[in-house]
Amino acid sequence: MKGLMQDRPLLISHLIEHAATYHGTSEIVTLAVEGGKHRYTNADCRIRSKKVAQAMERLGMGIGDRIATLALNTYRHVELWYGIAGMGAVAHTINPRLFAEQIIFIANHAEDRILFLDLPFIPLIEAVADHLKTIERYVILTDDAHMPETQLANAVSYESLIEAEDGDYQWPEFDECTASGLCYTSGTTGDPKGVLYSHRSTVLHTFACALTDTLAISAKDTVLPIVPMFHASAWGIPYATCATGAKLVMPGLHHDGESLQKLITSEGVTMTAGVPTVWLMLLNYLEQSGTGIGCLERVLIGGAAAPESMIEAFEKKHDVRVFHAWGMTEMSPLGTVNTPVRATLGLSGEQQIALKSKQGRTVYGVEMKITDDQGADLPWDGRTFGNLKVRGWWVAQAYFRGAGGSITDEDGWFDTGDVATIDEHGFMQITDRSKDVIKSGGEWISSIELESAAMAHLDVAEAAVIGIPHPKWDERPLLVIVPKEGATVTKQGMLDFLEDKVAKWWLPDDVACVTELPHTATGKVHKMTLRKQFKDYTLPTVREG
Ligand code: AMP
Repeated sequence: MKGLMQDRPLLISHLIEHAATYHGTSEIVTLAVEGGKHRYTNADCRIRSKKVAQAMERLGMGIGDRIATLALNTYRHVELWYGIAGMGAVAHTINPRLFAEQIIFIANHAEDRILFLDLPFIPLIEAVADHLKTIERYVILTDDAHMPETQLANAVSYESLIEAEDGDYQWPEFDECTASGLCYTSGTTGDPKGVLYSHRSTVLHTFACALTDTLAISAKDTVLPIVPMFHASAWGIPYATCATGAKLVMPGLHHDGESLQKLITSEGVTMTAGVPTVWLMLLNYLEQSGTGIGCLERVLIGGAAAPESMIEAFEKKHDVRVFHAWGMTEMSPLGTVNTPVRATLGLSGEQQIALKSKQGRTVYGVEMKITDDQGADLPWDGRTFGNLKVRGWWVAQAYFRGAGGSITDEDGWFDTGDVATIDEHGFMQITDRSKDVIKSGGEWISSIELESAAMAHLDVAEAAVIGIPHPKWDERPLLVIVPKEGATVTKQGMLDFLEDKVAKWWLPDDVACVTELPHTATGKVHKMTLRKQFKDYTLPTVREG
């Protein structure tokens, strides 16, 4: 017997309809690419999203067509998401920090038909446009007054494109499993692979995002996603603000510490989200300038491990609560968030900080487990490392156009490629990407844990640990450090510092200082490039025999 409840499809257009109808005056504020601040309301956003949908239909786009954006976090990008997905097409976010060849590969593989791009990316696309086989026209995200000369085919300004429409548009209803968004993984090896989100997966993920024990977004909040919309959908925040009525603040081009501090304080931001490298810049700026952080209450740190020193700086110095989270493009991206449970409430301040360096508990809607290499489940004791596997309503089942073949086992589990422990309360801690873990004498050393310990040193701006081949131990850790401006870090000083923080056999065999670390297009340390930089390096423990 079937239930007798209304069977309404979960569609992304309902999110913007809800925001405009019930939170119509709630604002979306952007540091505009052309300069100055742009501000308008959810109601304005709905009308302009509808104009986008109308314009797409006028240009012959239909259900399932891929329409690409190479765009920053701005109000126009939000309109595009709702307009494109709302009319049934697929909003394909491309990361402008990718290499030109990757952008060519991705746009051709996706068979994108239109490319919307922000002003700063015009030279990048002009250089590769001859290779973009399927793109019929380019739309520059600006108005006619700021429209530059460009050789891009059929290029028009965004404002002129949508101003031709009247916004009198009825969102179509269709199957909730229809594709809505496409995002290619940053893939450090092999070709990038497309993750194809659906309306259903996106709406369910949105519910989960707003829960109190996940991002706790409410109508009282002002939310600043620094994480880009091209990096796993800005972690779902531009959907969650529509669902909840929170005010949305978009940083555009500006990710430096000073701009962020000013934006946070001037707009009354209560919650913000981004990768650790962004927070390093903000925390440095706060330290150097002696300025405050306004009414910021919560910061979501994800994409890479949050070092304990960063958690401590936010919580103790600035009285901002840290939510450490883990996820992947393949997971829409939310997998775990670190929020307390009753059993951990009694921990001391220091223990709380240590607990927060774990990536947290699974969000309802995602199942998680760790297994050995044969697939057998491993215990949740907080010590045993295993391959982290997930399944759930917003986890990928396959990559776009079958790339990489089958990606789940017969029971639907997706192997994340991460190695992790899970403790008795369900707190998961990432040890490493499986390819980054350091295998020493048959045991594993967590590069992430070593990095976090090194980052607590006052003279260290950034740290990365890689395994270097060793004839006796297989691999041994090398700690690579970027010292803070004007500071020096010695090997002995560092080893003395780490001595009581990690197991003795985990202590790095050497410490190298560099002026900067290589980063991926999503702001993580690029371990593969770092390993290449140190490929001819011999550890002193090998040289000395
Ligand atoms: P992406 O799909 O580019 O977001 O990358 C996902 C990967 O980033 C995960 O599989 C992890 O290896 C890593 N990652 C994401 N969040 C964290 C975190 N909080 N701590 C450690 N690694 C993380």
